[in-house]
Amino acid sequence: MSDGQSAAYDVVVVGGGNAALCAAISATNEGARVLVLERSPMEERGGNTSFTDGLMRTVYEGEDDIRAFCPDLTDEECASADFGAYTESDFFDDMARITQLRTDLELCDILVRNSRETILWMRDQGVRFFPTFGRQAYKVNGRFKFWGGATIAVAAGGPGLVEALYNAAEKRGIDIRYEAWVRDLIRDEDGVKGVILTRPDGKQEEIHAPSVVLACGGFEANAEMRARYLGPGWDLAKVRGSRYNTGDGLSMALDAGAQPHGHWSGCHAVSWERYADDFGDLIHTPQYQRHSYPLSIMVNAEGKRFVDEGADFRNYTYAKYGQAVLNQPGQIAWQVFDSKVLDLLRDEYRTRRVTKVTADTIEELADKMEEIDKDQFLKTVEEFNASVKTDAPFEPNIKDGRSATSNGVPRSNWANPIDTPPYHAYGVTCGVTFTFGGVKVSSEAQVQDTNGKPIPGLFAAGEMVGGIFYFNYPGASGLTSGAVFGRLAGGSAAAYAQAHARAPEAAPVN
Ligand SMILES: Cc1cc2nc3c(=O)[nH]c(=O)nc-3n(C[C@H](O)[C@H](O)[C@H](O)COP(=O)(O)OP(=O)(O)OC[C@H]3O[C@@H](n4cnc5c(N)ncnc54)[C@H](O)[C@@H]3O)c2cc1C
Repeated sequence: MSDGQSAAYDVVVVGGGNAALCAAISATNEGARVLVLERSPMEERGGNTSFTDGLMRTVYEGEDDIRAFCPDLTDEECASADFGAYTESDFFDDMARITQLRTDLELCDILVRNSRETILWMRDQGVRFFPTFGRQAYKVNGRFKFWGGATIAVAAGGPGLVEALYNAAEKRGIDIRYEAWVRDLIRDEDGVKGVILTRPDGKQEEIHAPSVVLACGGFEANAEMRARYLGPGWDLAKVRGSRYNTGDGLSMALDAGAQPHGHWSGCHAVSWERYADDFGDLIHTPQYQRHSYPLSIMVNAEGKRFVDEGADFRNYTYAKYGQAVLNQPGQIAWQVFDSKVLDLLRDEYRTRRVTKVTADTIEELADKMEEIDKDQFLKTVEEFNASVKTDAPFEPNIKDGRSATSNGVPRSNWANPIDTPPYHAYGVTCGVTFTFGGVKVSSEAQVQDTNGKPIPGLFAAGEMVGGIFYFNYPGASGLTSGAVFGRLAGGSAAAYAQAHARAPEAAPVN
């Protein structure tokens, strides 16, 4: 199709997760005709978004904001909670600290300052939120006290979010095609003009449109790219979420001259069930996380501790400790608990898909732990136990300063001697969540080239946006980032299409 001819769509959105759907809805709200192309079959739609708990980090000033996010909240529920506040400066401080001051300030500013407004916008599109009672809040003096900025979640988690966004898209008449595997961008010297996809019958098809939004995830599900960019050993990690995020969008954008941005050798990765399946599946994935490690000692096959399990709240360490496990011999570790903390373990430890051994003595436990250096493990436990500063009371709701040390590795909080049977040990490996490297986008979510100039017609959102997360990640920021940049990219793509070769008969949707 040559310039001047009209396309059937103003905006083509590549991907079918949170960022893509927010982009599609936002573009439609601006009057654009939108097509969503999702690589997976319909039953697997939603990408990594469907695997989430639906937790979303956002700025809020207090109870009034929480009530605005969650209109279903009752007065009784509010009375039982101390929501506190999570201000813009709290969010900025967390991003700066967690990314070691690397986060792209312009993009971080967009994320933080638009978080509250974007949650309200999602609510208006039909997404239902509720406070994370019992998860990011513990009871203090009879009231739930919230901490850490991840105060709300989507009702019914990731699947609930995906359903709500697809309902909103369908209500607006957005066309959605499944098993539409986008392989390349159509472009000429004037910019991007559409996409080429592979259909389920193996045939290729061109779809022309003045604007394309790439929101098709990182390269976490591509073992070759993981080894290439994250480094040796990363091909051996388990994938926590979608099998479809194989870096296609990034490859297409780079081929089109996009500027790589952010931490290409970094990713979000966690402690994960040792014998988990290679990719996520919605039934078993929630059973595979092992997030109670701050109450454990984690030891490697040499029987040594290798990380400060209690450096900070789980929210602020879990995303980088997967890499710590990957770096151990055999890419494995054991989380060891004694009976004093067993009732504090998260639900996933009580599911069926766990690699778990139990014993009444530490010696017997060591005999049951595969591949462990028993003598060293016993020495580690002895050294750790002797070093616990028991004068500080154990308080899991605060950073209690109850410290210890062993193997030259400090333990900053929540240390307890491992001395009370029965003992439990859980085998873990590394599960990769998503990759941090992406493309550089402008403050309008338009992709920039390696000269720093915008690529006409090309926008990006979600995991594909580089420069936001480095080294680590404040829990519950991925969905917020996807929604903020998805909404922005959709609006910008619609405006771009309006200014260039707009499709006929498009009208704003109320
Ligand atoms: C187990 C797990 C739990 C998580 N929990 C949380 C949480 O509670 N809170 C939070 O904020 N974040 C969480 N995250 C991170 C979060 O999932 C991501 O940050 C976010 O969902 C990414 O959204 P996205 O739209 O960019 O990508 P995705 O949701 O992964 O969507 C990408 C889409 O692109 C499609 N696609 C890929 N390639 C192509 C192609 N070539 N053509 C067409 N389509 C393509 C995929 O099928 C997929 O639908 C979690 C992740 C996992 C795996």
